[in-house]
Amino acid sequence: MRRSAELFERAQKLIPGGVNSPVRAFRSVGGTPPFMTRGEGARIWDADGNEYLDYVCSWGPLILGHRHPAILDALARALETGTSFGAPTEGEIELAEAICEAVPSIEMVRLVNSGTEATMSALRLARAFTGRDLIVKFEGCYHGHVDSLLVKAGSGMATLGIPDSVGVPKVFADTTIALAFNSIPELEQCFEWYGDRIAAVIVEPVVGNMGCVPPAPGFLEALRAVTSRYGALLIFDEVMTGFRVAFGGAQQRYGIHPDLTTLGKVIGGGLPVGAYGGRRDVMSMVAPSGSVYQAGTLSGNPLAVAAGLAMLKCLKAHPEIYTDLEARTARLAAAAPPEITVNHVGSMITFFFAKGPVTDYSSASRSDRARFSRFFRWMLDRGFYFPPSQFEAAFLSAAHTNRDIDRTADVIHAFFASS
Ligand SMILES: *Cc1c(COP(=O)(O)O)cnc(C)c1O
Repeated sequence: MRRSAELFERAQKLIPGGVNSPVRAFRSVGGTPPFMTRGEGARIWDADGNEYLDYVCSWGPLILGHRHPAILDALARALETGTSFGAPTEGEIELAEAICEAVPSIEMVRLVNSGTEATMSALRLARAFTGRDLIVKFEGCYHGHVDSLLVKAGSGMATLGIPDSVGVPKVFADTTIALAFNSIPELEQCFEWYGDRIAAVIVEPVVGNMGCVPPAPGFLEALRAVTSRYGALLIFDEVMTGFRVAFGGAQQRYGIHPDLTTLGKVIGGGLPVGAYGGRRDVMSMVAPSGSVYQAGTLSGNPLAVAAGLAMLKCLKAHPEIYTDLEARTARLAAAAPPEITVNHVGSMITFFFAKGPVTDYSSASRSDRARFSRFFRWMLDRGFYFPPSQFEAAFLSAAHTNRDIDRTADVIHAFFASS
């Protein structure tokens, strides 16, 4: 790891912590991160020439693996006509059509550049539509680094043990109520107290950002019922789960229709794209058709849209990808011994180093993080790149084969036999 170590030294002089997103720095597992130079299918290579089987998949976007030919083709074609116009292009309509067709609760959609932008904009819209200020979220759910949502957030915040980011004005944090995921009694109590002041409930319908935690039976139904009863909007943050746990996202998988949905990751095909969409009456409030301001110089960027569209077309043409991915993920899950807890939905999976069940943030945080770190190192040293945190989901791509899974399982077995 000589070359990576040198690059990390150099990066730390100019980039905070040496990285452009905190979890990449490997702080919770120790050591320094390999710098990546190339990817192909399910494999990536670092600056020292080491090869890894990639279970991060760029944190979710690469459901078809690295350098999928359909996406490369679309990008090459887009490059021939220009990289950005700041004017409308036909590709944006096609991507909007593909999204609305796949996700039935989305009647209108606005493209942005990241998941964070999508959730931030959806909250503004929900507040405008309801004329209310309060937002309900769930502990351990991460919705991007939006000020008012950096309260009891998962992902990098959980990894670094930061309860709430500094720099968020108290008045913003005070507009957020954080409840335990999967607790229907807490939800109902909260609405009894504050129901007429709550603009929206935002939730990861399958949580990925405290590790993978599925919704308990009835939980999403309860969210739908209570928000409707009190006139609050239900926002599914499907930045991770959209086109990942099913083609139509978690809402298709569980049959619940939210009012608004946020998307990102997979819809960009590996380029920066986010989106928020939903009910026509709500989305019509977005400028310029309505008075909720939201804009973006590079929103609907032709390259990003071309990659995203190629991704969605490919997934639509091959629905068997989802059943295959699910079967392979179950095969990987079976590698874990009963002393730990494996949660998986679709092609999201987390090995929690804890006695289960893991159903919310407090049960997730009972994991033995030191042992997780040893596991992470063990796998990395043998060429298996897992997320460098107990509180992140791992992902499979369509490029992972049964043989890849079985090789991974052997190395997992060896870890548990040796420790
Ligand atoms: C990744 C993620 C975000 C943030 O998206 P960025 O593109 O990183 O800003 C928001 N919500 C969920 C559920 C995510 O997984």
